[in-house]
Amino acid sequence: TPSTNEDEAVRSTNNDAAFSRHSAVAAGYLQDQFIKHFVRNSPPKRPPLINRGTYCRLTGVKSILKQFIEKTPQFKETQIVSLGAGYDTTYFVLKSEFGLSATRYFEIDFPEITSTKAMTISRKRPLKSALLQTPNRTLAAPSTADSIKINNSGLDLSSPDYYLISGDLRHFESQIAPKLLENGFKTSVPTLFLSECVLIYLDSEHSNAILDWVTANMKPSGCFAFLTYEQINPSDSFGQMMIQNLRNRGIELKGLVGCPTLESQKQRYVSRGWDHAEVLDLDQYHQKYVSHEEKARLTKVEMLDEWEEFTLLAQHYCFTFAYSAQNPEFREIISD
Ligand code: SAM
Repeated sequence: TPSTNEDEAVRSTNNDAAFSRHSAVAAGYLQDQFIKHFVRNSPPKRPPLINRGTYCRLTGVKSILKQFIEKTPQFKETQIVSLGAGYDTTYFVLKSEFGLSATRYFEIDFPEITSTKAMTISRKRPLKSALLQTPNRTLAAPSTADSIKINNSGLDLSSPDYYLISGDLRHFESQIAPKLLENGFKTSVPTLFLSECVLIYLDSEHSNAILDWVTANMKPSGCFAFLTYEQINPSDSFGQMMIQNLRNRGIELKGLVGCPTLESQKQRYVSRGWDHAEVLDLDQYHQKYVSHEEKARLTKVEMLDEWEEFTLLAQHYCFTFAYSAQNPEFREIISD
């Protein structure tokens, strides 16, 4: 697909995501020693309301990924595939905290994004060291400086357990899947797919094609899961404002057409025969999964007065976690 102005506008949302992550980290909501390498001098500060939302988004995603990694030691290998990863630093954070001893981590984005990310990684020592840290338990390749390879004229990068792959998600089967397989992705290995604020920019036809590829190709293994985080509820006035703000920048939230509600998010997987799908909006996450102690700490980090606004905002973002688990061992882990 030739790159369009709309694609360029969609790519610019990556900077928003990186700035938000940086803002929450700089304010003290979360720790991430890596994000600073992906934002230029004086990145914007976000208001407390947004920082609190970012905190919930990042801790929600991280806790699912962490559980997936920690609970699967009996499997020789596991995989995480981040679709539209942008400058997400989750791989680096997890690697430095948990070692990721048997997990291969794949990230996919447009070449304009992966090339910059690959260059940043190869130039910044802390990022490069994370890639080489802790020899991998099962992945045999030795972790030496020359095991980080920049491929495809600077667009892609591979290392013992981290792979950056350029391509257009709208051509998943023809462009992305072959590159995943070339880089050692296996359809037989327990895999968690992650899409954080990405599928929402695709027409349903394209996001469904990704899910259908996963369903068809990973089915025999019976061990795969998908975590998405994205906008919902376009109909009320907050939803309309959310849509209009992006439309003013030339961006359409196309995914809202096919998946506007919590229930339709769930149905997307159920209708494809996945064993289980559950949804949680960000407000529910904040209420149920952020402990009293943690809430008290966050209040000290930054006072938040606008609770009504927070609730309203948080009701327009949701996590969906779905899995297919014919493999009994995997089912036991994933259903927990
Ligand atoms: N997931 C990252 C995070 O949470 O920090 C980045 C989110 S950013 C809002 C959306 C990302 O999806 C951008 O990096 C954009 O380039 C990528 N993206 C959107 N449509 C894409 C497509 N068709 N192919 C590849 N990447 C795409």
